[in-house]
Amino acid sequence: MCCTNPLNHINHLQVATTKKGVAIHHTLLYNSANIMSVARELFHLQEIELAIEANEQAQSRLGRQLADHSLVAHARARLTAERQRLEETAKTQKTLDFDIDDLSAKIKTIDRKLYDGKTVNPKELSSLQAEGGDFQKKRSLLEDKALILMEESEAIKQNILTATHELTIAEAEQETRHKNLNAELTQLQTDHAALEIKRQTLISQIEPTALAVYKDLKKRKGTAVAKVEQGTCHGCRIAVSNAELQQTKGNAIVRCGNCGRILYLP
Ligand SMILES: [Zn+2]
Repeated sequence: MCCTNPLNHINHLQVATTKKGVAIHHTLLYNSANIMSVARELFHLQEIELAIEANEQAQSRLGRQLADHSLVAHARARLTAERQRLEETAKTQKTLDFDIDDLSAKIKTIDRKLYDGKTVNPKELSSLQAEGGDFQKKRSLLEDKALILMEESEAIKQNILTATHELTIAEAEQETRHKNLNAELTQLQTDHAALEIKRQTLISQIEPTALAVYKDLKKRKGTAVAKVEQGTCHGCRIAVSNAELQQTKGNAIVRCGNCGRILYLP
């Protein structure tokens, strides 16, 4: 009706943005000399902003993956535990060796007394023999324990070798993984910068009032621009009226009569 005067277009857009929640069938014509229609520009902007969001999500995901050192931490904890076990076993072994040596010394003393001919009293000799026998039994038990402990300690040493090897593998894997993740992150940062430039360039080209409508819709609905596919608004899945469909073919902003999103006919 009044679209020959460019000033009226802005008035129409302002009306469109203030009538929230009301089904508005607004058609706002822009200068037809524009190479890219406003709807196309806004759709393009939306795609760039979606790509920026996806990029940022990917960056945080990579950040979390880079902060994850659990594989190496687990491998290191396993190795530490095995080393501690070996240390404890060595301590027990030392105590056992000391006790065995002590018993051997006692047995030696008794043997000397038994066989040096100085002790002749049969009662005393029998008592010495009984004492010596006791010490030998005790020593034999301790020697069995020492043997078991030695086997255990060999097994732990083997575990330490395995755990050390696994730690080396985990560290190497982590290094490679982090290297790849960092490369990916750098690429994402580069892409992000490029997308941001594209976004700013596009924003500078879009008419400010149209941009305001876009921003308001984005804030309220998440998606501001909806594609029209097979005569249906992609935002609400409701059929677009013939009149609206005709208008989308022009260089205009047409908003869905149902959901209010800016319609874009690819
Ligand atoms: Zn819709």
